[in-house]
Amino acid sequence: MAPPRSDAQRVLVSTVGRLMDAFGPEYWRDLDAREAYPEAFVSGFEDQGFGALPLPEAYGGAGGTLTDACLVLEEIHARGGNAQPFHGQYYLSFLLARFASEALRRAYLPALARGELRMQSFALTEPDAGSDLTRITTTAERTGEGYRVRGRKVFISRVEQSDLLVLVARTATPAAGARPTEGLTLFLVDLREAKGIEWTRIRTMFNSQTYELFLNDVDVPTGNVIGEEGRGFDHLLHVLNPERILIASECIGDARWFIDRSAEYAKRRVVFGRPIGSNQGIQFPLADAYARLVAADLVRWDAARLYESDAGPREVGAAANLAKYLASECSWRAANVAMDVHGGYGMARDMDIERKMRETRLYQVAPISNNLVLAHVAHHVLGLPRSY
Ligand SMILES: Cc1cc2nc3c(=O)[nH]c(=O)nc-3n(C[C@H](O)[C@H](O)[C@H](O)COP(=O)(O)OP(=O)(O)OC[C@H]3O[C@@H](n4cnc5c(N)ncnc54)[C@H](O)[C@@H]3O)c2cc1C
Repeated sequence: MAPPRSDAQRVLVSTVGRLMDAFGPEYWRDLDAREAYPEAFVSGFEDQGFGALPLPEAYGGAGGTLTDACLVLEEIHARGGNAQPFHGQYYLSFLLARFASEALRRAYLPALARGELRMQSFALTEPDAGSDLTRITTTAERTGEGYRVRGRKVFISRVEQSDLLVLVARTATPAAGARPTEGLTLFLVDLREAKGIEWTRIRTMFNSQTYELFLNDVDVPTGNVIGEEGRGFDHLLHVLNPERILIASECIGDARWFIDRSAEYAKRRVVFGRPIGSNQGIQFPLADAYARLVAADLVRWDAARLYESDAGPREVGAAANLAKYLASECSWRAANVAMDVHGGYGMARDMDIERKMRETRLYQVAPISNNLVLAHVAHHVLGLPRSY
């Protein structure tokens, strides 16, 4: 495994570990049973300044890098937790730091850095567009003072737990021959003030706070456009790429957890008079999962390095997609190996394996399904004919 790269990063990881001691397996198990938001975990991390980590120092943030954010999320998962309730602010911070106007930054970033506001929600997916974001039909029409938004979004996480929402809407239909991604615009919606937003919770196979969102003539001020009107897709790449690298980090944390737990169990569990870990039928799948973990880890760090370099978003995109693909396949494989190693006990709720398995399954589907990653690699890296 690639070690943390500096003393400060080593301290960061050990601080996360210390904080996670307060949120052991019983904490996550109880939330899972109640399908409840881990408020104590999120506010505990915010109180220690973790919400401010990737925000620029000029606005009171810690000026952390994507690598720093990856280390934090990985460690939360490697300790048996789930960073999802908290990770939205990490990838959205990179967007605001880069594209928000000075006025918008001054209005929101210091309060976010102080932990007084949460920016955890990002609304892109729509029921009739699915993976094809060029088909989104939520519109934002110009009015006297701003824009009026109408539409419907689905699977939007943490709306109820957030103060701020980053919304993707169409402000123009692409002209004939133009890229279908033209005409998309990003908005920062202040959920404390916005009128006309309704949501219903979608219950999922693991404990997630995910909602269907109805936008009924929601007025958003002109000043809340992030970046340039109509160029939202180009800006979006600066959310989607870090998001994929951060999610890869969560998968890597999960895979570490599955493999560590299983190796320990395989040493202890005695059947037929010897530890089950002395059987190659147990050793080889674990060693294979570990080999895939090491490979995914390297690709993840390479993607993070590219993001932090001058590489263009399309070059970063290929690496970020590959990192997310390899890491999510790896964590799912490690989850299945853990299930096998634990025999019947893997299915017992108190062992946490089935819970972590349900949680890590998401990452093959979201934020982009692995089929679409493969299509991206086929089209953009291998130059094969487009399949859509
Ligand atoms: C718990 C949860 C939380 C989420 N949180 C958010 C959020 O906060 N914000 C947000 O915007 N979205 C969120 N999402 C949505 C998520 O990003 C989408 O579910 C995902 O992008 C896939 O879209 P879809 O579900 O519409 O699947 P579809 O696009 O309908 O795809 C269904 C299947 O068809 C396959 N498929 C489709 N087209 C092709 C093709 N051309 N080639 C090969 N295979 C194809 C897909 O790979 C997939 O297997 C969340 C989803 C979940 C489940």
